[in-house]
Amino acid sequence: MKTNLKNLTIEELKQFCTGEGMQSYRALQIFRWIWKKDKSSFFDISTISRKIREMLEEKAELPQLHKLEVLTSKDRTIKFLFGLPDGETVESVYIPTKKRKTVCISTQIGCPLNCTFCMTGRTGFIRNLSPWEIADQVRRVESIIGVRITNVVLMGMGEPLLNYENVLKAIRILNSDTGMNIGARKITLSTAGIVPGIQKLALEPLQIKLAISLNAATDEKREKLMPINKKYNLRRLFDGLDYYVSMKKKRITFEYVLIKGFNDFLKDAKELAAITEGIPCKINIIPFNSIDNKVFKRPNSKTIKKFVDFLYPIAQAVTLRESRGTDIEGACGQLRIRSKRTSHKSTS
Ligand code: SAH
Repeated sequence: MKTNLKNLTIEELKQFCTGEGMQSYRALQIFRWIWKKDKSSFFDISTISRKIREMLEEKAELPQLHKLEVLTSKDRTIKFLFGLPDGETVESVYIPTKKRKTVCISTQIGCPLNCTFCMTGRTGFIRNLSPWEIADQVRRVESIIGVRITNVVLMGMGEPLLNYENVLKAIRILNSDTGMNIGARKITLSTAGIVPGIQKLALEPLQIKLAISLNAATDEKREKLMPINKKYNLRRLFDGLDYYVSMKKKRITFEYVLIKGFNDFLKDAKELAAITEGIPCKINIIPFNSIDNKVFKRPNSKTIKKFVDFLYPIAQAVTLRESRGTDIEGACGQLRIRSKRTSHKSTS
């Protein structure tokens, strides 16, 4: 079987090269051509000899994600549906602002967590994405739109901390200054609260940002949205976060999806401020994106404003994140679900 060189970090690529009788600096050259110059054929790598290129062609491969759909929103958000070698599909979203060019990427096909308000859970869990399938989403988006990506958020389909090793490898590949050179501080990993994963991440020598999908400030409410709360309740989650913050000395972000008539009362805001009080953090309020959802709804603008205005003076730092790309099914899992209903044709 051929070795997929896009699954390898620089260190691993060095081992591959020396194992094949090459000098280890070749790994830097190859890595640069793969991730900086986005080449998918060894014959395009002009800085290595023909003999080595032929050997690589025989023993190794450089797969790419396959562009299936590209949808551009009125607000310039662009949603991508990519095909994988086994016929599965995965979503990524490009979100530009004045300062940042962010890509939101997926880490699993489907998701095993079954959060009741989230579209991704509806198709169940299919499999983990491999490191290259995670990292190549950023590579493809940058190449397709021709804009240098500055930030990456792991907030698409899947739970990154349940695909820990592959996610960390993908982050190392993206972060490498020989490749795409996305700064670790510009990479945000979002988790539903997998406590052992948070504890493990606390020990990694990586300066990525951590976001927690909190969504409710009491166990009773959180369990209704996120079944994982039965396994890792708020007490255990916050113990894990205390440990994380003590190791990293960095503040974390809490995400709170605001749902009409469920967690949008002033009592909820008060509980949210109280539970996050002891931990250095920022709270991101995200009004629910309610396309195609009959159970959960987005609160009206007045309720959103009231919630945020009430929270603002009593919590540490609060931001309101407006949903983007609502006209192109921007919320995670939406595009993949629709595309499963229709058959798609490749556009690349
Ligand atoms: N499993 C990880 C990452 C994927 S979910 C996690 O839970 O953090 C990424 C974010 O999207 C989460 O904060 C989730 O609460 C939010 N989300 C999911 N569906 C949404 C919707 N319909 N509207 C708004 N936010 C949503």
